[in-house]
Amino acid sequence: MYEELSMTRLFTEKELVIATHNDGKAKEIAELLGPYVKNFSTSKDLGLPDPAETADSFVGNAELKARSAMRHSGKVSLADDSGLSVKALGGDPGIYSARWAEKEDGTRDFDWAMEKVRKELENHNDSRASFICVLSLAWPDGHIESFEGRVDGVLSFPPKGDKGFGYDPIFIPNGHTETFAEMEPNQKHAISHRKKAFDQLVEACFKPREG
Ligand code: IMP
Repeated sequence: MYEELSMTRLFTEKELVIATHNDGKAKEIAELLGPYVKNFSTSKDLGLPDPAETADSFVGNAELKARSAMRHSGKVSLADDSGLSVKALGGDPGIYSARWAEKEDGTRDFDWAMEKVRKELENHNDSRASFICVLSLAWPDGHIESFEGRVDGVLSFPPKGDKGFGYDPIFIPNGHTETFAEMEPNQKHAISHRKKAFDQLVEACFKPREG
């Protein structure tokens, strides 16, 4: 039987499918959950389709990706969705963060995407923004658990730093003076939206329960 104390379900299976075709993301997730999971596979290893992200929210897209991998594999599957939400732009680029960087030939150019954000913000004097990450864990019986992590901050132009990826060079988290791209990776990882979502996921679904 499943253990569902305090409303969340504990992962007790021997294998977890990571719903991604991105090897870097799969490796990072496998490292974070390594202490709790015996075997990992990914949508890419299993030849599962990469579903279109058609939902209108981070949680909607994370759940859609987790459910798609779960249905095609028949196994518990974990997916994430993340992005940069800019207050004065009504939450954009938000779920379209990766798409804002996509050029016609399919490549991604984040210098260009950050410049688009700067231009869109020109007539606003509110630079508040947040990075958001949602993780969803879907079981074959239809049960699903989702957790949101966010880090609030401000945008700063021109972009600074070369250590991160995506929109890191324009984002300064509250309480700090450097952008995410100027920080050492472990300093960013200690406070990031992804870390906050993982902490909740591990606490609720992976940490063995006492008693
Ligand atoms: P996805 O979660 O793989 O769909 O990608 C979301 C997009 O959001 C990425 O391509 C990045 O552009 C952006 N993003 C998400 N997390 C971060 C981050 O930690 N730093 C910078 N950009 C991020």
